[in-house]
Amino acid sequence: MIDSSSIKQLAGHPFDRRDFLKVLGWSGAAVALSGCGNTSIENGKETVVSYVEAADYVIPGVAVYYNSTCAQCDAGCNINGRVREGRVLKLEGNAASAINRGKMCGLGQAGVQHHYNPDRVREPLLRKGDKGETISWDKAYALIAEKLNGVSGEQVAFLSGAVSGHLKVLLGNYLESLGSKNLYVYEAVAPAVQRAANKKAYGTEMPRFNINKAKVVLSFGADFLGSWVSPVHFSQQYAQFRKGVDGQRGVLVQVESKMTLTGANADRWLVVRPGTEGILALGIINALGASGVTLSGDVAAAVQGYDKARVSNDTGVSVEHLDKLVALLKERTPSLVLAGSAAEGYAHGSQNAAAINLLNQVLGNVGKTIEASASVPFPQMIPAKGNTAALKTLNDDLAAGKYKVLFTYATNPVFTAPGSMKFKANLDKAGFKVAFAHYLDETALEADLVLPLDSALEDWGTQVPEYMAEGAQINIQQPLMEKLHANTQGMGDILLTLVKQREADKYKDFADYYGYLRGSLLTIKGALGSGGTDDDTFWDETLTSGIIKLAGSAEQLSGNASAAGLQLPAAAAADAQYSFHLIPSVTAYLRDGRHTNQPWLQESPDPLTTIVWDSWVEIHPKKAAELGIVEGDVLEVSSRTGSIRAQAYLFPGIHPDAISIPLGRGHEALGRYAKGYGVNPFQILDAVFDQETGELALHETRVKISKVGQRIIVVKDEGAAGGKPEQRRIALSKSTDQVKLSEEV
Ligand code: SF4
Repeated sequence: MIDSSSIKQLAGHPFDRRDFLKVLGWSGAAVALSGCGNTSIENGKETVVSYVEAADYVIPGVAVYYNSTCAQCDAGCNINGRVREGRVLKLEGNAASAINRGKMCGLGQAGVQHHYNPDRVREPLLRKGDKGETISWDKAYALIAEKLNGVSGEQVAFLSGAVSGHLKVLLGNYLESLGSKNLYVYEAVAPAVQRAANKKAYGTEMPRFNINKAKVVLSFGADFLGSWVSPVHFSQQYAQFRKGVDGQRGVLVQVESKMTLTGANADRWLVVRPGTEGILALGIINALGASGVTLSGDVAAAVQGYDKARVSNDTGVSVEHLDKLVALLKERTPSLVLAGSAAEGYAHGSQNAAAINLLNQVLGNVGKTIEASASVPFPQMIPAKGNTAALKTLNDDLAAGKYKVLFTYATNPVFTAPGSMKFKANLDKAGFKVAFAHYLDETALEADLVLPLDSALEDWGTQVPEYMAEGAQINIQQPLMEKLHANTQGMGDILLTLVKQREADKYKDFADYYGYLRGSLLTIKGALGSGGTDDDTFWDETLTSGIIKLAGSAEQLSGNASAAGLQLPAAAAADAQYSFHLIPSVTAYLRDGRHTNQPWLQESPDPLTTIVWDSWVEIHPKKAAELGIVEGDVLEVSSRTGSIRAQAYLFPGIHPDAISIPLGRGHEALGRYAKGYGVNPFQILDAVFDQETGELALHETRVKISKVGQRIIVVKDEGAAGGKPEQRRIALSKSTDQVKLSEEV
């Protein structure tokens, strides 16, 4: 019988992690062979170890728990994995984390489906025409060395998703060894405009936003409960905010053109004409000034023309609502104003963000609900943050045929680049393309060589979050179980092997990435506050905790938001040909689509529409009625760049001049759970960029819509249609007028 103290001992047992992995490994192939027991794959040999002879800390049926880091997004939530008989079964939040305090989001929970996904790449693949031929790792590494031979650093580029910690250090070292400065860090959905605007207004890119200390939160399209920056952290702050400060329950006002999950939770949801968020912010400042709030001279001058009548006319927000909002902000202090991606996705996105940040300053929020953050005192580990401007530069270079060797890692631009960029065609001009990949996604399919990666649940690493909740922290990633597939490798191990090809002597002391990581952290042990601890104890404690907490270096916060240079354009004129604004929505589960092959995420009903396994076009019911559109009508959505088709969903939470399609679906690759489900709005995005940062203006594409004469039953978790894809009936042969929905259910 196992009592609770034995279980506690197991959870905290300081045994060697490598022995644990050796003993507890249980490969998929061996399950079929042995039925029970464990296998270990070391040096190509597979050893079956019966649980009869298992180490004393292995008790069949009793779980052990390991702390690591969620790799499903960059928020850096700390996790705790439940492992039984060598298999990771469930992920939970690490209660000691200042970021997520024991909680996780649904996207994070689905991380086990990334690990166990049947479509993972399992062997190095070399392109032979349209096919991939399995090759050995030795041959793959030799091929890379051969392709780099005689190639100058300027002719080599590395395209990566956001990367931090020791992986970033090693990646930088590798590029340096090649003489290349061409690191492009691309994230299709990133708060890049916000970072730049924050830097100007507050002196730091990512200050700490204290929702829990505010009595009013006015959010301009920041979906902080869904997908914005660090949603699990903000959800917990939001719960405190709702309980109230000084006995006053917090009031949330959400301003946006398409309702987000956060908008659906707001006390007041104000719909604005797309792109006019900055005008509204200046109108509020003007009204605050008129009601007695002191404005500095330059601010008063900048908002002079934004009287209520004009602002109401431009934004569509009534004067009555404007007055109520101003009264609320005056009455309840401190408040917090947030600028989200919905406000920033325009050619004047930086201006919108600047106006919104200025409102924070006028309200006196800087230093109260907006505070200085901290960063780790090791600049080389600080995240290389992704944006879309990097992809634009790379795309231009590819078009010019600049690169002979291109590496790609943790990003899928063939799927996420706006169609107007013609990225796939330009990628073809790179001489030799190497993809480090978990799956054959759209970008890996274009590669000449695909190198299969360990999952985050079987690999080592460190991660530094961009948004720090308390002090600073370095997150530890460690394997929760032995590798599922013998022939995958960790990204750190791959980079170490590659850099050794160039500088063998420098890295000769590191047999593998584990050794590199351990050695590097021990080197800075003193700076991490553990100078007096012996190496083994420090290492055991670090792995047990999964987090290295630091006071960190305090960022300097300034309240210097200035009205200088604020030039907001008037509300966009109507486009006679393309009359709708397209809002590509970023959902909490699918984000940019890199995890769409995790079936839990496909199966989880969208929180607002309850639709599963498919894409949809949100359209306002009044506009739909004008155009004779009903739910399920298949619409062709056309921009100047391209067109896609999806079912109509009538939704009152959207501005009548806009339609919205969620991002993430519409894959042509990425495996059985992603391919062929829904449509990809990235394909039809026009090449419009924020004028200050060069970021893709995600919300600037204009579209027209037309019915194609088909109607389908929307697969959703509400209403009569039910939630199973099999229940869908496509009326392919009938015109819209002929379809009788009741017959099809
Ligand atoms: S927000 Fe969700 S997906 Fe992102 S790190 Fe946290 S738990 Fe993981």
